[in-house]
Amino acid sequence: MDSDLKFKTKASAIYIIVAFLLILMLQEMVIGPMTTTEEKVPYSQFRKDLAGGAITEVVVEPERILYSVEASGEEPKEKITRKVVRIEDKNLVEELVASGVDFKAKPARRGILGPLLSWILPVLPFVLIWWFLMKRMGGGARGMMSIGKSKATEITGQMTGVTFRDVAGIDAVEAELKEIIEFLKDPDRFVKMGAKLPKGVLLVGPPGTGKTLLAKATAGEASVPFFSMSGSEFVEMFVGVGASRVRDLFEQAKAKAPCIIFIDEIDAVGQSRSGGAAMRTNDEREQTLNQLLYEMDGFTSNQGVVIMAATNRPEVLDKALLRAGRFDRQIVVPLPTEKGRRQILEIHARGVSISPEVDLDKVARFTAGFSGADLANLINEAALMAVRRGSPEVTMEDFTVAIERIVAGLQRDMPLEGETRKKVAYHESGHALVSQLLPLTDTVHKVSIIPTSKGALGYTMEMPEEDRYLMSKPALEQRMAVMLGGRAAELLVFQQTSTGASNDLERATGMARRMVTEFGMSEKLGPVRYVGPAGMDYLGSQVSALNLSPETERMIDEEIRRFLDEAAEEAMKILTSNESALHEIARILQEEEVIDGETVALIAGGKSTTKQTKDKVTV
Ligand code: ADP
Ligand code: ZN
Repeated sequence: MDSDLKFKTKASAIYIIVAFLLILMLQEMVIGPMTTTEEKVPYSQFRKDLAGGAITEVVVEPERILYSVEASGEEPKEKITRKVVRIEDKNLVEELVASGVDFKAKPARRGILGPLLSWILPVLPFVLIWWFLMKRMGGGARGMMSIGKSKATEITGQMTGVTFRDVAGIDAVEAELKEIIEFLKDPDRFVKMGAKLPKGVLLVGPPGTGKTLLAKATAGEASVPFFSMSGSEFVEMFVGVGASRVRDLFEQAKAKAPCIIFIDEIDAVGQSRSGGAAMRTNDEREQTLNQLLYEMDGFTSNQGVVIMAATNRPEVLDKALLRAGRFDRQIVVPLPTEKGRRQILEIHARGVSISPEVDLDKVARFTAGFSGADLANLINEAALMAVRRGSPEVTMEDFTVAIERIVAGLQRDMPLEGETRKKVAYHESGHALVSQLLPLTDTVHKVSIIPTSKGALGYTMEMPEEDRYLMSKPALEQRMAVMLGGRAAELLVFQQTSTGASNDLERATGMARRMVTEFGMSEKLGPVRYVGPAGMDYLGSQVSALNLSPETERMIDEEIRRFLDEAAEEAMKILTSNESALHEIARILQEEEVIDGETVALIAGGKSTTKQTKDKVTV
């Protein structure tokens, strides 16, 4: 059955049944009491009353008999009306005549108005509610007809006006899309050549890397309409709507071809129907997914519709979506490199008055790991900061504060007090000192014990000198030592650890695990990969474990433990032999809440600048 129709039938049927039951209840409650002032009695009682001569009047109806009796007791005698269900009784009329009682027959129950009102009045509210719901869905009385129409209707043929000039730092991706643009500009040329283009392009990458922007720019470059919808929109609202929305979306798009359909968050509909995700699958999504597959199969690429979709969780997508003829081209949209960040900053700085002293190169260098969206946000935050200061220009200081806010989520209005302040100061000093004294770690940029909105009580900010793609085993070991440096300082000074180190432990353990299972850095386990297929690791997704033997599992655990023990030992060794520096940094921190990298270097010695990694903050 047509899914749209199916939905309507299903919903209407349920609605009608519920309404009907409620009407019956209402009738009982409202109408009922008015007509049941009579006393219900068994037929035998009626016969008794008749025999006893107490009856004054009888009304015989097709299904019941109403009669009046005089209540026994004082004068004036009260009249009671009784009601019995009529029973086949041949001699009744004879006996009534014999007893001399007034009696008459009556056809049905009430007149025409009574029943009519008793039905219409209760029905009315339901009709109103139904009408109201329909109206809210956008369509007034016609709502019933348009309930499954996709929201894309409202943005039919939208020209985005976005071009590649608005996208930066992902030139390689842009190049991959050039062909699609050529095709959309002149599909006939491709058709004549007999060339087939991919119907679906899947953009894969972390959030905020510009996937939506790219899709829009592709449409803009080709000057074709852009239909956009989010996967989560498909599955919202009523059961069954998703599938019909997909159908409508494609219908609309085909009418406007050549054009681009963009489906954001496609994982919301396209999640795998089998495996681990099965628990969470539901009929609704499956229907929508099936409709999507059906639509994609239902037209040829010659029709000039290109479907682009975005996800940051490609590993959960149903395999059926990735098959040939569907999303058979995948383009990875990575986080921007330093050069890319520089270009993105430039784009977003266009309309903002920025002081000439601001060095965007430096900002780009300090923002490793930022996505395009983060950078756009950074510029905005910095501009807000300048406005707050009443300055006409955004300065470097505004950028620094904005970076700190975004990275650590600063909260200046809640200073730490007493023992906590002291402990956090030593904890952060531990991170900073270990980082400062190990040669292969990042430069300490700033240490702070100002609590952050992300829940950290303090943080140590390290500034990578450049993006780093390759890290040696010693560099990773030293990073682990820095992570464990906070805990080591607490142990050294207070002879106890605190919950403040839990995040450090989590990160250090994660790193040790990857060193053992992914990077082959354990001699004992050798150059073997002990986790599932690589590919999307950069998204931080969980890679499923293979079926490892218990011995191997145990060995992995032992090796992780050994790596962590060694790192903790290293941290402790450094702190112990530089205890006075530790006390000095912690003292300044307690007094001033922040201490910059140069001061740390001055107190501790060790490396000057020029070091690298991608890690930024250790809490
Ligand atoms: P995604 O769809 O990958 O989550 P978006 O395309 O929605 O990311 O990006 C959000 C915003 O971030 C964009 O509107 C744009 O302002 C900015 N942005 C992201 N990546 C870039 C980029 N490469 N160049 C310029 N701006 C970008
Ligand atoms: Zn810490």
